[in-house]
Amino acid sequence: MRQSFLFTKTRKEAPKDEVAQNAKLLIRAGFIHKEMAGVYSYLPLGLRVMEKIVGVIREEMNAIGGQEVTLTALQDKKVWETSGRWDDSVLDVWFKTKLKNDTELGLGTTHEEQLTALMKDYIASYRDLPRYVYQFQTKFRNETRAKSGIMRGREFMMKDLYSFSADQESHDVFYEKTKQAYSRVFARLGLGDRTYVTFASGGSFSKYSHEFQTVTDAGEDSIFIDEKKKIAVNKEVLNDEVLKDLSIKRIDLVEKKAVEVGNIFSLGIRFSDAFELNFVASDGSKKPVIMGSYGIGPGRLMGTIAEVLSDANGLVWPEVVAPFRLHLIALFDKEGKVKTYTDELYQELTEQGVEVLYDDRDQRAGEKFADADLIGIPYRAIVSDKTLAERVVEFKDRKTGDVTKISETELQKILAKKAN
Ligand code: ATP
Ligand code: MG
Repeated sequence: MRQSFLFTKTRKEAPKDEVAQNAKLLIRAGFIHKEMAGVYSYLPLGLRVMEKIVGVIREEMNAIGGQEVTLTALQDKKVWETSGRWDDSVLDVWFKTKLKNDTELGLGTTHEEQLTALMKDYIASYRDLPRYVYQFQTKFRNETRAKSGIMRGREFMMKDLYSFSADQESHDVFYEKTKQAYSRVFARLGLGDRTYVTFASGGSFSKYSHEFQTVTDAGEDSIFIDEKKKIAVNKEVLNDEVLKDLSIKRIDLVEKKAVEVGNIFSLGIRFSDAFELNFVASDGSKKPVIMGSYGIGPGRLMGTIAEVLSDANGLVWPEVVAPFRLHLIALFDKEGKVKTYTDELYQELTEQGVEVLYDDRDQRAGEKFADADLIGIPYRAIVSDKTLAERVVEFKDRKTGDVTKISETELQKILAKKAN
């Protein structure tokens, strides 16, 4: 994409009411636009990052047998009455609305109810199990605190997967598989070394649920980490019993602030019981389906990456989710030689399938560099009359700051390597 064509511009200042570092950076760099507290629009650069995060998660969910759907945000009050969660005193984050005839509707905060009701149409026998259904869908939650930028939105994207199994054993096997898949997602997104499988409260059907907590001071949770075992315990459930269950000692644990980027939960028959989602087993008996739910917040992940991988000059995207792979910067000369050369290089790279943001704007070098630092594309190639004379391009790694002079052929070689 030509930067002269991109409608967004970088800004020196974030909105005055924005307190979160992730949102400040993403707004200044033109990735998102703040509509109101906890409500953000995704602009071209931000949408590209979001789609790449979604792409990584989708690959991992498909690999464990997930089938993708899109359920609706408008939800029937009846399904929520069935589970007993319609009342505001039970679920305090509701956004509700009404039809013209006064029929009440809910804006989906989550989709256990709706999907369980839906699966009743498709699950009848043991032959219909197991089933793993997931979606990327907008959730609405009237969060009381919305001070963490896109890490806590009132309208936000969630990947939610739901498992439907015939018995506890097969549920447990899939639950473990999902845990592994989640670890792969966070590793691929560059957060592996600071993301911990964290024991959290489990509800009535299992002792614990598992959160995936990424260490950052911007997080709202406190976790206690056992660095050797690479596991953690959420402060909310830390007690002697948990320590014993996990064979860990209080003295080995370090308390850190963290953000919950994912969450997996055994639901048992909580919903299949309420909705009478049963199946006929191979011996002819009727049994309730065992369920699980598995969430990841792609927007929260984008915010987390912006928090933990940025530096004083701006964003630093890992290759897999960067909006573009190369930031090609032309420092124009009077004769137009640089323009001719860089236009052609841009054309060639684009044809080779390299995602290039081409800074073809008429601006001073200093401004172009500052913008490039803020936007945070992993690789930068600078073309000037000097580099042309030397038959090289100046190549800069955003993360390390290393600058080298390389030939066009070398540049193409580096860019041909795929991100993970
Ligand atoms: P939290 O404890 O942070 O409020 P939660 O436990 O309510 O989150 P879940 O309902 O399990 O979250 O949602 C699954 C995932 O969706 C979370 O792990 C998180 O990544 C993401 N998520 C939850 N709430 C938000 C939000 N308000 N904004 C952005 N992402 C969110
Ligand atoms: Mg939680």
